[in-house]
Amino acid sequence: MTSITKNPPLVDRFGRQVTYVRLSVTDRCDFRCVYCMSEDMTFLPRDQVLSLEEIARVAGIFQNLGVSKIRLTGGEPLVRKGIVSLVEQIGTLGLNDFAMTSNASQLPAKAQALKTAGLKRLNISLDSLKPERFRQITRTGQLSQVIAGIDAAIAAGFLEPGHGIKLNAVILRGQNDDEVLDLVTFARDRGLDISFIEEMPLGEIGHHDRASSFCSSDEVRQLIHGRYPLTATTASSGGPARYWQMADSSTRVGFISPHSHNFCGDCNRVRVTVEGQLLLCLGNEDAVDLRGLLRAHPGDDQPIRQAIIEAMDLKPEQHHFSSNGEVQILRFMNMTGG
Ligand code: SAM
Ligand code: SF4
Repeated sequence: MTSITKNPPLVDRFGRQVTYVRLSVTDRCDFRCVYCMSEDMTFLPRDQVLSLEEIARVAGIFQNLGVSKIRLTGGEPLVRKGIVSLVEQIGTLGLNDFAMTSNASQLPAKAQALKTAGLKRLNISLDSLKPERFRQITRTGQLSQVIAGIDAAIAAGFLEPGHGIKLNAVILRGQNDDEVLDLVTFARDRGLDISFIEEMPLGEIGHHDRASSFCSSDEVRQLIHGRYPLTATTASSGGPARYWQMADSSTRVGFISPHSHNFCGDCNRVRVTVEGQLLLCLGNEDAVDLRGLLRAHPGDDQPIRQAIIEAMDLKPEQHHFSSNGEVQILRFMNMTGG
């Protein structure tokens, strides 16, 4: 058995230390983005979902094992009832970084409470600035509400020092690739960072052919460079994005490129699904069930700590995505916790 006194405890077979955990707080969402979900989704029954107390407990165990950054994600974290009190609990752990990924639809009502509860960073998905098209991509989303959410986050102080707002855009050829520059301009105008994400083959979506809609980060970067010259930086937000800087703006432009620039070599992350499955890699099916242990040992964290430490040996060297659009991972992104 691995000793729990190993220091630092969460190091995998390739010498990578896990310092960052993404916790999915729900598989549900008020949107049905075409690259993330199918139109008809079946969501998990309640008893399979970790309670807020269980999620807070998992966060505390990871923090105790040397994790310094936690991101809450989903599904849409803001549709989970009690989310602000969960943020409040995790906010007391004294993490270096505490973030949430959201579609922003509920930020007009919740941004201020989240900031007060201790959330430091928001990643907000925004794939189009055209209301009709935004509706097509998200199937149910309303652009004006999302922009109001972004502005509410700014007003709540998420651009203060030590905080941050980053937009995330998944670019699909023939769907929104003509909006790359407009999205960068939008981010510049508001002083936000922005990352462009290559679509990943998670789940059978049935909406578009992933191979023909694939748009590489290099292509997107060259397009931006023609209008806003970009210089590479060594900046890191502790995640998979590589960042570029513009001469005349504080906005950083990031690229998350699972296909074209494999980011596995310095991976510092693991994920916990809302069912309590510890996923060692976004692009592999290996998982360890924490829910069973949490429920079997309500007053004793040691078995869960031990399982997490031992799981480090399962972390694969790299993901197994290919750019031909084939689904190798049957989980949808909303199940995985993006
Ligand atoms: N609902 C929140 C949101 O949309 O920001 C958080 C969860 S969502 C699954 C997290 C991120 O994953 C979003 O930025 C979304 O664009 C991205 N995403 C979803 N499916 C994806 C896919 N197949 N490939 C690449 N990114 C994807
Ligand atoms: Fe919902 Fe986010 Fe998935 Fe869109 S990307 S369907 S907003 S979970």
